[in-house]
Amino acid sequence: MAAKSYNNPELDQKLKDSYYRPDDSNPEFSTEILKTSRTLANMCYQCGTCTGSCPSAPRSSYRIRKFMRRNVFGLENEALTDPDLWLCTTCYSCSDRCPRDIAPTDVIMAMRNLAFKRDIVPKNFLMTVKLIYDSGHGVPNNDANRAARVRLGLEADPPTTHKYTEYMEGVRKIIDSYNLKADADRILGE
Ligand code: SF4
Ligand code: SF4
Repeated sequence: MAAKSYNNPELDQKLKDSYYRPDDSNPEFSTEILKTSRTLANMCYQCGTCTGSCPSAPRSSYRIRKFMRRNVFGLENEALTDPDLWLCTTCYSCSDRCPRDIAPTDVIMAMRNLAFKRDIVPKNFLMTVKLIYDSGHGVPNNDANRAARVRLGLEADPPTTHKYTEYMEGVRKIIDSYNLKADADRILGE
């Protein structure tokens, strides 16, 4: 059925095109997000339950619903260059509650992967990569914690890679297989 005309060329064109996208959109973006996230993000109907469930939302300008919209519209640059992309804690509350059974958390992770491919990563995330490479922990043990553990009757180091350092080789092998440490060093050095 032909779309009704409103004598407004711009609006008429939008109504004719059921796949209307803004000029700065990249249709491939949504396809990439789908491939990586394996969740049907384009089914989002913008109800806002995800943002209402998000512990980061009341403490920041981060709105998961906005990123879901950017996916649908293919707004790649807008999504990948927004520093809020890195404020998701990956708690999965939104994924538990989405009435469309979408996993917005996985959409965010897919966007972060794409951002990393373009070297758009906050420095603190790159520093975390280096810490994990060195110790197996994003937050390694320190002298104050060791003293507190001993006071509580625990071993100074937990039974992780801190105690079993022989497993660090495996940790580094995994990180190196994704070139993560080399990329982190390169981006931090630039
Ligand atoms: S809860 Fe689900 S459907 Fe609702 S806005 Fe968020 S992602 Fe979209
Ligand atoms: S997984 Fe991320 S976006 Fe979803 S509720 Fe938790 S912090 Fe918010």
